[in-house]
Amino acid sequence: NYISVSKLANLLNCRIETLMKDLRKLGFSNTTHNYILSKEYVELILQEYNYNLPASSLTLTSANAYDELKSPIDPKLLKKRPPIVTIMGHVDHGKTTIIDYLRKSSVVAQEHGGITQHIGAFKITTPITKKNITFLDTPGHAAFLKMRERGANITDIIVLVISIEDSIMPQTLEAIKHIKKSGNELVVAITKIDMISRKQDREKALDKVMNDLINNDISIEKIGGDVQVVPISAKTGENMDLLEESIVLLSDMMDLRSENSPRTTVEGWVIESKVKKTVGNVATVLIKKGTLRNGTILLSGDTYCKVRSMTDEFGKQASKAEPSQVVEILGWKSLVNAGDEVLQAKTEAIAKKLIAKRAALLEVEKEATFVDKLNEKTAFELKKGKDAEQVKEDDDNDEENIVEKGPKQINFIVKSDVSGSAEAIQESIASLGNDEVKCTVISSTVGLPTEGDYKMAQITNSQIFCFNLGNLPNDIINNKYHIPIKQFNVIYKLIEEVIKTLTDNLKPIF
Ligand code: GDP
Repeated sequence: NYISVSKLANLLNCRIETLMKDLRKLGFSNTTHNYILSKEYVELILQEYNYNLPASSLTLTSANAYDELKSPIDPKLLKKRPPIVTIMGHVDHGKTTIIDYLRKSSVVAQEHGGITQHIGAFKITTPITKKNITFLDTPGHAAFLKMRERGANITDIIVLVISIEDSIMPQTLEAIKHIKKSGNELVVAITKIDMISRKQDREKALDKVMNDLINNDISIEKIGGDVQVVPISAKTGENMDLLEESIVLLSDMMDLRSENSPRTTVEGWVIESKVKKTVGNVATVLIKKGTLRNGTILLSGDTYCKVRSMTDEFGKQASKAEPSQVVEILGWKSLVNAGDEVLQAKTEAIAKKLIAKRAALLEVEKEATFVDKLNEKTAFELKKGKDAEQVKEDDDNDEENIVEKGPKQINFIVKSDVSGSAEAIQESIASLGNDEVKCTVISSTVGLPTEGDYKMAQITNSQIFCFNLGNLPNDIINNKYHIPIKQFNVIYKLIEEVIKTLTDNLKPIF
């Protein structure tokens, strides 16, 4: 809830000089670029002057700074897209072997001389129905956890791999838990069936796995449910085509679609990113909507890109990338983060502006976190003091206790530049304190300290805190009443000082 003048100017998209001029008119005399305004001031400024910032923008955070680049989906423009599939399962149950088989056997792969690039994902064309499937080949990846944390579930279907020899193991259970929570659709592959050659033994082992699945509330076809179970061997390739077609069948039922028209702006996710020696920063991006072409401006995290070229998993140049496709993109100004969202901006200028806006928001959030931490820490320290005192009291509770009850009051008189800040300060410091020391704001008014303030301070034993009043004249600092005067022009410094005064007034602990 705090923002500096320069960051606000950035958010309002106005010249900082203009903003400072208006602030001066409002009574903020001594502002600098780094001067911190509270939310209340910002609201005041927005009210007084017609800045082009909807009030809702004040709830902007770095996490949603790019939201204006996202447009609502137009149902008329939805087109079918291939499923995005992730393989999960217990270690050594055969995930890598399945992926290797798919990479090598795929018709597309063979046409292109094999998948040569590891870019985090690859697509196959199924042998019978000739449909495309995109497989993500690094599901344990931190990027995926990050995406999930943000509520982005980029996977449509999970293939749960279970070895016929071991059945359900701890990581299988974890995967099942994840599948249930994420709401992903499921196909089960019982693998390594070539390891059991006797038909009867194989049937028995398959039954055991299926019973284990039922016992874990997986509604498999055998009991009338809709989860397909396919016994496979990734080593011999037995039933691998069936597994692929099961995925197609399921995805057809899911009727997966993305908006994709010439006017659809591109959105996607960074799967991987790295610096390549000769070409610079590259990022593998999974396209969520729209068609990506060379020359498009993309934005992600704190950087952007004018797409210089796109490469597919066969190491071939791609002229476009459509929803559910994955391409390695060249042209990023700096390295992007795996797991971050990618959005299309109309121009480079817009991209740069939004990046600056997000950076400003990040700064503000850091400051706000600082103030929160400070308050938390003080609350803790105050409590510690109190607990220690409690122990001491318990120790000598025989003695007659003549200490007055209730917290000790520490009094403040606040003088500030505008009424908005007077209220804001009162609100932020009035609640500080605990059972032992308590902050009391005797008054909080606008303008320089007056005779009346000094007298009140004398009677109530207050300090006077001045906020944003510029450099105070000497006759105020060295007032004849000897009232301590402190000046601030940043709210959190003032809060910090109040907290320090309160802490200093805790009874010493021996
Ligand atoms: P991951 O840890 O789940 O990726 O498992 P891997 O794919 O690395 O497989 C673990 C071991 O099982 C390896 O030695 C594989 O060769 C073997 N394996 C995987 N799938 C099969 C299969 O279908 N049949 C047989 N016989 N061995 C398999």
